Amino acid sequence: MASVEPDPRARGALPAVRADLAALTGYHSPQVDVEVRLNTNEAPLPPPPGWLEAYRSGLSAIDFNRYPDRDATLLRQALADSHGVRPDRVFCANGSNEILQCLLLAFGGPGRTAALFEPTYTLHRHIARITGTAVAAGIRTDQFLLDLGEVQRVLEAHDPVITFLCSPNNPTGRADPIDQIEAVLTMAPGLVVVDEAYGQFAPSSALDLLRRGGPGAERLVIVRTFSKTWSMAGVRLGYVIAAPEVIQACQLVVLPYHLDAAKQLAGRLALGFVTEMEARVAMLKEERGRIAAALAGLPVETWPSDANFILFRPTAAKAREVWARLLDASVLVRDCSEWPGLDGCLRVTVGLPDENDRFLAALTESLR
Ligand SMILES: *Cc1c(COP(=O)(O)O)cnc(C)c1O
Repeated sequence: MASVEPDPRARGALPAVRADLAALTGYHSPQVDVEVRLNTNEAPLPPPPGWLEAYRSGLSAIDFNRYPDRDATLLRQALADSHGVRPDRVFCANGSNEILQCLLLAFGGPGRTAALFEPTYTLHRHIARITGTAVAAGIRTDQFLLDLGEVQRVLEAHDPVITFLCSPNNPTGRADPIDQIEAVLTMAPGLVVVDEAYGQFAPSSALDLLRRGGPGAERLVIVRTFSKTWSMAGVRLGYVIAAPEVIQACQLVVLPYHLDAAKQLAGRLALGFVTEMEARVAMLKEERGRIAAALAGLPVETWPSDANFILFRPTAAKAREVWARLLDASVLVRDCSEWPGLDGCLRVTVGLPDENDRFLAALTESLR
């Protein structure tokens, strides 16, 4: 019998993934079992006991045999009330990452471009690529601030449908001043998406611009999450505040019933515990100041932070080695040292006072 090449379909060969995804690697944040986990900017405290109690009893009233409220009416109303906007300006999804994906599905895609300014949140680029959106990347100043000349250059050269800002910027820490965001809005030809995952830690929010309704305010899109300040990373809930047309576009591309009933309940109840959230934020801001002051006395370069993390660069030791020595002391921080524009940098999340003490002691030791 002559040997013939088997038909690849008969062999059950898998199709290749889309050619434009082939070069992409997934998003990873290495998790190691340690005593002090300061690598992913989560809240160090759980939500308050009162929330858990209310959530438990609320769960028992859910009709689990029925699809959830597709419009998440109560949750959106509660969020709208808390931000002083109308509910038709609010859309919720499974984490703010799904919000970013919806925005890119609706407004990005093949033949369209999103602009961003690095170093910044890597998922903006990643999700853009997955949705087939081209990425035009500008750079920040050496202090990691926006350079409006650079912004103008990128916007004029690439005519992006979406311009991403991240304020406070992860992983560098600073919030963009409101007048700069306003200036970007004036220059940008399309939507300006401000990722405010750390908004409550910062001195200002672009929400003021949106509520004020000045020039371009209808193109301003503000993305928030329950993952950080609300101590609810495990719930996966985020939301966007924008013009009703942007909200409708998100509703168009999201899967039906994407937001389960338990999650809608969890978020709505959380908004009843603002005082507790603000107390956690205040504690973390105070700890942030304490860490910053201690870092100032060590051989590291640091940058001011408006978020719940601090970027620092050991000046007399290799970042990777410092990271490993911290790990030996059971303290896990984020190694950003090989990310573009962040040569030799590490990022530490602000934790509880005793966790921060552990970090500072281990860092001091590892820099000796
Ligand atoms: C942590 C973080 C998020 C959160 O994403 P979720 O999907 O809501 O957990 C979004 N944007 C930035 C910049 C972040 O650092």
